[in-house]
Amino acid sequence: MSLSRRSFLVGVGAAAFVPSVGCVAEVAAPLSATESADLAFVREEEKLARDVYLALAPNGGQPFENIASSEQTHMDRMKDLLDAYGLPDPVSGRGSGEFRNTDLKALHDKLVAAGKTSRGGALAVGLEIEELDIHDLDAVMARSTRDDVRVALDELLRGSRNHLRAFYGQLVATGGTYLAKHIDQETFMAIATSAQEQGENGRSSGR
Ligand code: MN
Ligand code: MN
Repeated sequence: MSLSRRSFLVGVGAAAFVPSVGCVAEVAAPLSATESADLAFVREEEKLARDVYLALAPNGGQPFENIASSEQTHMDRMKDLLDAYGLPDPVSGRGSGEFRNTDLKALHDKLVAAGKTSRGGALAVGLEIEELDIHDLDAVMARSTRDDVRVALDELLRGSRNHLRAFYGQLVATGGTYLAKHIDQETFMAIATSAQEQGENGRSSGR
């Protein structure tokens, strides 16, 4: 009994590694270099959001902690896609505030420093991250053809719109204003002043 169960598990384990390099014939057609780089970039950009929000949570208060947890879900979503296509994970072995992409590392450090100055500064950093995410996710979406990738990007975009609304509501409550840097102001305001969308914050999953 134990022997047959063991060999069954070995079989399952081998199947689970089919997406690895060298066995691509068994899985969906491999992604292009651009598509692969996009998945890795989005995985790290979601990490930037999570790491900055965790760093700012002590002085930024809510909603930083809740949104950091949502960013972890987005990171996990991208990790699942990297695994499915047999691609290496740029986050592997990197702790909080550490990035493979040097631009994201510099942006992380700059935003954490700016956000620690005040609660208004923290909220402005949250808004900048979310509008940047919307800008970059839109660009990745525009060149993505895979259904599984597009479904994930759609979830991340909806999350970003909801996060932007949450940060904006808090900023307005403190009398603050915000000028968008990465998307046009009209688009920013249309998102910021519209209702929260279901499917992201309403999800019960803790992942
Ligand atoms: Mn996100
Ligand atoms: Mn977000």
